[in-house]
Amino acid sequence: MTDTVARPVPGAIADEDWAAAVATVREYAPGGRVLLICHVNPDGDALGSMLGFALGLRRLGVHDLQATFPGEFEVPAPFTAMPGLDLLVAADAVTTDPDLVLVFDVAAESRMGALAGVLDRARASVVLDHHASNTGFGGVRLVDPAAAATSVVVEELLDRLDVPLDAEIAECLYIALATDTGSFRFDMTTPRVHEMAARLIATGLRPAEISRRIFDSRPFGAMKLFADVLARAELEPGAAGGLGMVWTYATLDDLARHGQRPYVLDALIDPVRCVAEVDVSVVVKQVADGEWAVSLRSKGAVDVSAVAVTLGGGGHRLAAGFTGHGTPSEVIKTLREQLTPEKRI
Ligand code: 5GP
Ligand code: MN
Repeated sequence: MTDTVARPVPGAIADEDWAAAVATVREYAPGGRVLLICHVNPDGDALGSMLGFALGLRRLGVHDLQATFPGEFEVPAPFTAMPGLDLLVAADAVTTDPDLVLVFDVAAESRMGALAGVLDRARASVVLDHHASNTGFGGVRLVDPAAAATSVVVEELLDRLDVPLDAEIAECLYIALATDTGSFRFDMTTPRVHEMAARLIATGLRPAEISRRIFDSRPFGAMKLFADVLARAELEPGAAGGLGMVWTYATLDDLARHGQRPYVLDALIDPVRCVAEVDVSVVVKQVADGEWAVSLRSKGAVDVSAVAVTLGGGGHRLAAGFTGHGTPSEVIKTLREQLTPEKRI
């Protein structure tokens, strides 16, 4: 197969969509107001994809750049050394009439909060994502559910825009890729993923230093908080038709007692999903009175994205989430009822 032949990878982005994205960026970004948006409670892929692409636009000579995300405007401690953070602007302070909006790692407009409206006011928009549950909003759509991270899509668009990778862009895209592949352990860790990692590391990155900063560093209080929350985990071997579920919950009071910020709980799903007896793991995290952000993981037997979608959320087949209401037990009861045979993979 030659380079001029389109690669018909199932789920991959069509050549005309790549061409439309390149043409849109070239038409509206130089000299225009450019707004980049990623999802609420941003993770490594959301922030890394957005800031990596923003730095790429800067290399193209685009100067009117703002990057933002909805909800509480707080960068989680693991990401406070990420290149490009100087481009971040609080959501309530960004331009309301951009020429071009670029959206990163956002599966549904609800994940952009009040920023969703800006898409309609912009002259053009490009959506870069990899969620199977992506709801189909935006102008030009670069959505590849077969991509391990949104940063895979970002790297290709930068390449098609003739922006070379430098160490700063590469660090953003590496953090994104390492986050969404669970440090190159999860399902989508293909040869293509390792080839991309090789290109990124070749710019001079130090993976051990980045991994320690992103994954292997947390305050003592966060460890004590994890101990409390893990101690109350419940094992339900009969749930999900006998595939089994383990779950726990963390309250705002738990956070306050240990003096911790909400984002520290994002790492809590990792010890929970290691429980050998079950397929499905769940962490229920309080965000307000009676409101909970629910993280779901499967080892491969349950499509937790389908489960999350029925409960108003979304995600990937083996990693998804939704917003639950009531008490933790009520949230789990609602969830348990959705772990039906048709959600099996
Ligand atoms: P996490 O459990 O790490 O917060 O999220 C796992 C995956 O599910 C991520 O890809 C995230 O974007 C997605 N996700 C989590 N919560 C929601 C939600 O409320 N709605 C949607 N559409 N996706 C979510
Ligand atoms: Mn992602």
